[in-house]
Parts: sequence; structure tokens; C-alpha cells
Amino acid sequence: MKAFSILIAVVLLAALAWFVTRQAEAPPPTADVEEPAVVPAPSIGMVDDARIENALVDEPGSWMAHGIDFTERRFSPLTQINRDNVSDLGLVWRKDLGTFHAQEATPLVVDGLMIFPSAWNIVYALDAVTGETRWVYDPKVDRGRIGTIWAPFSRGIAIYKGRVYVATIDGYLAAVDAATGQEVWKIDTIVDRAIPYFISGAPRVGGGHVYIGNGGSEWGTRGYTTAYDAETGEQVWRFWSVPGDPSLPFEHPEMEMAAKTWKGGEWWKYGGGGNVWNSIVYDAELNQVYLGMGNAAPWARVIRSPGGGDNLFAAAIVAVDADTGRMNWYYQTTPGDNWDFTAVQDMALVDLEVDGAMRKVILQAPKNGFFYVIDRTNGELLRAHPFATVTWASHVDMETGRPVELEQGNYNDEAKWVLPGPLGAHNWQAMSVDPGTGVVYMSTHDYAWWYKIDPSFQETGIYKWQVGQMNLGLDPETADLLEGVTSPAAEGYLTAFDPLTGDVKWQNELDHHWNGGVVATAGGLVFQGEGMGHIYAYDKDNGERLWGFNTYTSIIAPPITYQIDDTQFVAIITGSGGAESFIGKAADTATDTYGNHPQMLVFALGGTEQLEEPDKVAQIPPEQPLLSTERHELRRGSVLYHDFCAACHGGQAKSFGVVPDLRFMEASVREIFDQIVLGGALEPVGMGSFAEWLSEADAKRVLGYILYRANADRDKALMEGETEEQAGP
Ligand code: CA
Repeated sequence: MKAFSILIAVVLLAALAWFVTRQAEAPPPTADVEEPAVVPAPSIGMVDDARIENALVDEPGSWMAHGIDFTERRFSPLTQINRDNVSDLGLVWRKDLGTFHAQEATPLVVDGLMIFPSAWNIVYALDAVTGETRWVYDPKVDRGRIGTIWAPFSRGIAIYKGRVYVATIDGYLAAVDAATGQEVWKIDTIVDRAIPYFISGAPRVGGGHVYIGNGGSEWGTRGYTTAYDAETGEQVWRFWSVPGDPSLPFEHPEMEMAAKTWKGGEWWKYGGGGNVWNSIVYDAELNQVYLGMGNAAPWARVIRSPGGGDNLFAAAIVAVDADTGRMNWYYQTTPGDNWDFTAVQDMALVDLEVDGAMRKVILQAPKNGFFYVIDRTNGELLRAHPFATVTWASHVDMETGRPVELEQGNYNDEAKWVLPGPLGAHNWQAMSVDPGTGVVYMSTHDYAWWYKIDPSFQETGIYKWQVGQMNLGLDPETADLLEGVTSPAAEGYLTAFDPLTGDVKWQNELDHHWNGGVVATAGGLVFQGEGMGHIYAYDKDNGERLWGFNTYTSIIAPPITYQIDDTQFVAIITGSGGAESFIGKAADTATDTYGNHPQMLVFALGGTEQLEEPDKVAQIPPEQPLLSTERHELRRGSVLYHDFCAACHGGQAKSFGVVPDLRFMEASVREIFDQIVLGGALEPVGMGSFAEWLSEADAKRVLGYILYRANADRDKALMEGETEEQAGP
């Protein structure tokens, strides 16, 4: 009876929300309608657990939670746009986001509003039919902090009980009124502001809580996830990913267990990692939360845990009780991680028939190249088939549940190419699961990495590192060595995969290796944006390309689809950035060619809006005045550059079109290089001061390296016959 009244209340609230939304566009009331003395606040985003659980049945036109509903399958039941008419899909409206920064967000659509974060966690609420702006919320991120950590992007927001939850890149969690964009409260989620934690993931909601983790293992953090009371912002529980300083008490019993699996090193001085930076899934049915744990840090295990051990709970899926945060079970995909093999990739909850019995499972394709099917009631491993080229392990032993490592993955004494590399065989780019067939659609890649132990550690046995410096334990100059070592070609695919049988149902090789997330629909389509700047629709049964649209900007964010009244829409945010900048390889992507021009693009059948082709950016650097030609000075500049600058400005000083390519630096910028790098002159655009890490002499070495690279790359391009016209000024 109680459930029934709740249902009635939900339906009434939904109806009210719909009415208020529609009312905004209705003609003014006639004189004989009595107007209320006080206009009630519109109830927008009154999304509770029941409404999210029933979203696909009751409101199939909404996209209410990060992965469409609690199951995070990202499979839409909408069918208006289908195989037969998708060729008639066209742009109906767009919003220029007015920034060049990275875009990775999933927009949410509920009660006629589309809500999503752009750079610096500025949140837009737009009319989902017209694109008209309803409100904008700016959490006023500390832009100086960003310079030392990462690009200012976000993968999304959450909507719950009339509020929008915004987790910011500088580590705060804000609750914002969904109807007005007014901030209700804002709390600090970071335990120690001296350590470069950041938040790029979308918060999740459910069971009265907001759940949020953080990132930063490459800069020296120790990961944790916190549940907050959604109403008040008070902390309910916190689950640490990896153990801390052994001289201090354990924060919770699971840490005592985890500490036994870290041996001999001083990992806590380097953070230890395990950051939950992407996937957190609330299971309403089992009242559990699944935490996708990041890689162990530093990457090289001989440095952080020389005595061996699995290094729990890094690179694992951990199921905790949603109310208490106590662990119910865990499954570690990569014991003793040595390669940045995070298990933070999206997890989807599905009921599947496995070996003749229905099982409640989690599906995950983490970086390590194996696709896991795990019983989510107890953590039992059911399947682990490879879905890409894997050279670090031969297979996952189904008896022990552990991968069987190969010598090709061991780089302790000798540098090695390993597949997958730190970009993973699949990364955070959202996958879509068709619950009818059990087929998963996802962006996959074969991208090898040259793993080489930090030469100074190799020589001395001492790991020299400070907070804020890249925390890999590998040769920071690896990116430069790539020029002298033949790397296997990087390939990217859209893959339709059956996780039970391990069969690739179909696979399309794409033009670039780094592409966007996907959404599949009951209309028989799979939508994906890609590195060369197109959004495509494919037949979900055979991969045939049925439709495409050139956005002129590389895409990594996932598309969504929604329906309001009689119209189904497909929406996607364009714009590259993130991991690509520091790990990626030179390639002529759309963002390389035209620069990064992020926009929200919305399509419907019959849409006719056009995008103009932007001007191309210069590809050959200008001739620069060299500061030094001495090998050891350039080498030192390169190491410093790759330790502090490459994460944003790109390996080998080649930007991927998102943040400025420093090889193209003009004389006026060269002259104030110190004021920018040490003085923080460009803090407002996200370039904070590095004075804490770099001396004046260091800054000069970095500049010397950049100018050297400019000329070397210019000479190489001109020698290869590129015309002078393509060169910069
Ligand atoms: Ca990582």
C-alpha cells in the first residue's frame, strides 16, 4: 500500500513537472482563470529511486541517470529513429560551449530539461526541445589548481530529488536546485588539499546518498570513495581503495586485509592509487554499490611493492553495502597491477542466462583487455574472455580467477612493448549493452606502450619523486624514445562483443584509435562519435554504417537519445581532450586539423541545420631561436617537460589541438615564459604556477626543449615535403 502511494506521488510529481515545463511555452492564461497569489516553485528533477528504477518503462524518453538508469546499460528503448529512416537524421539545434577544453560528459534529460557540465564544471540547463538556456551554474573552480593536475573536464552530473549534484575538478561536491540553478550547499570532498586530487567522474545517486570518488594516482594520491547524505551533504561512509601509512591505524577493517597484500615498499609515500575516477554503480535491487578501482601507483610494482602481493584493492571491483560502506565482496581484475590497468571502466548490471541458470551479473571491460562477467550477488567470476590483443597475460584461469602473466608483460629488467598500454583496450568511453541479446557495443583499441623502469631507480634503487610530479615509476622521457623505437600501429575499433561466448559479433576498424562512447537503441542502431570528427549511426546487427555527420571536432563523449512529445532526439557533446593529450600519438584528427570547438549538437529526423567548416590550424611549427643544443641540457628539459607539462600540452611537446601547442609559441610569449610558468600569469585559463616544482633554471630548460622540438619537427616536416604554406608564422 505504501509503495502504491509513493507511486501515485511520483506520477503526480512527474505530471506537475511536465505541466510546469509545458506551461512555460503555453499562451498566457485568459482573464477568467484565477491566478494563484504565489507562483509555486516549479518542481523539476524530482527524481527519486523509484522513478530511476522504472525510467525505461514509465519514461522511456528521459535519460535520467548517468547510464540512463541504475543498471547503466545505456540501451534506449526508443524506436522513432531506426534503420529505415536514420538517413534523414539532421541537426536541429546546437550550443557553442565557448571553450576549447576537453568534453567527456553524458547529458541528462528529465522533465523537459537537458542538464550537463562543460569545462570548469560550468553546468548548463537547456530546454531539451529548443536548446534555449534555462539556467547556468558556475561552481567557480579554483583554476590555479588545475595547472598542476589535469584538464578541467567532467563526465557528468546527477539529478535527485529536485537537485543537481555537481562534483568539481577541484574536489568539491555541490547540490544545486534543479529548477533554478541556485546552489543549496557545497562541501569539500578532499582529505588533504596539499595532494593533487581531482574529480572528473560523474557522481551517482541512490538510496538517499550521493557517491563520489576522485582521480590523481598519476600525481600521488590514495583513492577513496565517499557516500554523502543527499539532503544535507553529511558524510555517511568512506571506503579507501588502498592501505595508507602502516604506522597509523586502519580506517576500516578492509584496509587491514588489504595491507597484507602490499609488501616491502613505501607505497604510501607515493599515494598508492586505486582512485575511483569513473564508475560507481548503485544496485537498487541488492542495495550495493560497486566501486571501480583505479590502477596501483606508481605503475611499476617493483617500486611500490617490491615484495610482491596483489596490492588490494587497486584494479579491482569492490561491492559495498550502500548504507554502511562495508565490503560485501571484491574481484580483482589485475592483481599486482604493473601497467596502469584500471578497473574504473563502466559497469553494467544485467540478468543473463549463464550455463543454464539466470544470474544477476556485472559486465565490465577494463583496460587490461579481458571482458569480465561477474555474479553480482557474490563476486563469482563467470567469464573473462579477451576482447582485444593482449600480450601481458595468456588468459584468465577460471579455477583461480587470476590472469596468467606472460614474460612479455615483465619489464623489470628490460623495456618492453605491451598490449594493451595505459590507454587500455577499452577505456572510460561508455559502452552499451543490449539486454535482449547480451551483446555489448564499445570503443576498443590496440595501442601498445613502451614500459621502461625509471632509469634513476634502476641505477640507485631509490625512487626520487615529489607530490605533483608524474608518479609512474617509468622513464618520463619514454615519449621521446618512441621516435627511435618502432611502435606497433595503434588501431581503434567499434566492437560488438558477446561477453558470454567471447565472440566478436562484428567489428569496424575506425580511422583513429581514440574514439567516443556509444549508445544503442531498440531502433536497431548504434551511435558513436569518433576521432576524425564524425558522429555515425550503425546497424546494431551487422555494423553497417547507415548515417554520418561531420562536426569538424574530435569526439570522445558518448551520445544519448531522448524523446519529448513526438520527437526523438540524439545529442552529443563534441570536443577531445583528457588522456589523449598525454598518451596519444600524432595523428590528423579533426581537433588536430581544426582545433577544439566543443558544442552540444542535437539531431532529429528532418533536421537541416549545417555546420561551417572551421579554418585549419598550421601544422608545421615556426622556426624558433634555440637556447641550447647541448644534449644533457635538452635531455633534462625533456624529462622536466614530461614530468610536469606533457599531461596537458602533449608528449614530445606536440599538442593534440586542445591546449596550445607550445612549439608554435610567439616571441611575445617566449619573453614572458617565466611569468606564465612560475608567476601563474595564465591562471584564469587553467595554466597555474609551477613555482613549487620548477626553478628559473628548470623553466629555461623546459623552454629550451620546446624550442628544440619545434625546429626538429619543422625540419622533419619540410624534409618530408610538406609545403612552407602549412608552416606557422
Ligand atoms: Ca591511471
